[in-house]
Amino acid sequence: MKITVIRGDGIGPEIVDQAIKALHSVEKKYNCKFEFSDALMGGCAIDETGVPLPEETVASCKSSAATLLGAVGGPKWDNQPANLRPEDGLLGLRKAMGVYANLRPATLFEELSAASNLKESVLKGGLDLLIVRELLSGAYFGKKEVVEIEGGKKATDAIEYTSHEIERIARVAFDIARGRSRKLTLVDKANVLYTSRLWREVVAKVAEDNKDIKLNYMYVDNAAMQLINDPHQFDVILTENMFGDILSDEASMLTGSLGMLPSASLGDNSVGIYEPCHGSAPDIAGQDKANPIATIMSAAMLLRYSLKMEDAAECVEKAVAKIISKGYRTVDIMEEGKLLVGTKAMGDLIAAEI
Ligand code: NAD
Repeated sequence: MKITVIRGDGIGPEIVDQAIKALHSVEKKYNCKFEFSDALMGGCAIDETGVPLPEETVASCKSSAATLLGAVGGPKWDNQPANLRPEDGLLGLRKAMGVYANLRPATLFEELSAASNLKESVLKGGLDLLIVRELLSGAYFGKKEVVEIEGGKKATDAIEYTSHEIERIARVAFDIARGRSRKLTLVDKANVLYTSRLWREVVAKVAEDNKDIKLNYMYVDNAAMQLINDPHQFDVILTENMFGDILSDEASMLTGSLGMLPSASLGDNSVGIYEPCHGSAPDIAGQDKANPIATIMSAAMLLRYSLKMEDAAECVEKAVAKIISKGYRTVDIMEEGKLLVGTKAMGDLIAAEI
């Protein structure tokens, strides 16, 4: 089982190394073998090859069972011309791999509820929701233009969706809801947007083939409020690209630290891209301070969705929960009375627990 490994920039190499330690423990425990293949993307790729996404990287990802990614970018490359920025490598890879479904679980371990900005009473019992965000269409990919008009300029970013694009991600969301508590919320703005009305129409049709899943609809402004007011009402949220971008960052803060949140990006086949939700954190790079848990949990998603190793995925997730319950904390989630550890030590503890 070949896994392409893109360490990237900033804290990327440090956190990916910890996820690989966890995967080595999985190899031992489940008697299997992963072949890790290194590839360049982002700022380090610009330095070595002049482009953020070398062709060999795309080829390696396409010939692998999955891609494990750290993070890209940093101040060194901030003044790169457009299309040659580290982040363009990421968008290019998502497009090249056809990964249209971005899964972002927001899980709050009960022991970490003090790290969240919400009152502990709101978070009682922990938190476990999953946002399924459309990743390859909508306003970020629609027709764009800036034109001169009398007295100024006019800018346009068209939100465009086809019924095919909606249906394929809706099917992913219903399948995922089936593996959880069979509850799905479509978040849209159907009172105003034609695209949202198409989303409702298509999702309602897909719901007819998935009658075991309880589907409800919510306007995005209300959803933004309800995530703070009563996050427990949600299980799986399905939404379009821009709404998902915003809501998933909001949901991430419910869990206290960006360093805890994994993600998976999937397309029609099982070859996914797995990465933490956070960036390359240049402010703490190379200091053994980064929390590797988001990347380790991304490796668990890789085991679940690309390698179909559900037991191993659960084993990794349980190991993370166990280490947290034993009181070990990286600095971003540190509280009084807990045991402060660095990036490497956290990786070692989780690998040993697996
Ligand atoms: P960031 O997510 O890198 O950092 C935001 C804050 O969270 C920082 O204070 C950082 O120290 C902290 N943080 C992030 N991850 C952490 C971890 N694992 N453990 C502990 N603390 C952590 O966001 P930013 O500062 O806005 O961006 C830095 C760079 O990352 C930029 O170049 C940006 O473009 C890039 N970026 C990349 C991705 C990606 O590769 N997917 C995503 C977002 C941002």
